[in-house]
Amino acid sequence: MAVPFRRTSKTAKRMRRTHFKLSVSGLVKCPNCGAMIKSHNVCPKCGYYNGKAVVTKAEKKEEK
Ligand SMILES: [Zn+2]
Repeated sequence: MAVPFRRTSKTAKRMRRTHFKLSVSGLVKCPNCGAMIKSHNVCPKCGYYNGKAVVTKAEKKEEK
């Protein structure tokens, strides 16, 4: 089995790990209000989906 010739320095280890990032998947910008929303979902901020107002604020109040 191959063995590392040198111990990896703290800096080299940290530089490598700068690329270990978590990415948020399935998040897109709402074309109407610009908020970050889940794709293929009605925007919870403005109630738009595919360029149309699907849910209005009045309807939301009636549901509650
Ligand atoms: Zn929106």
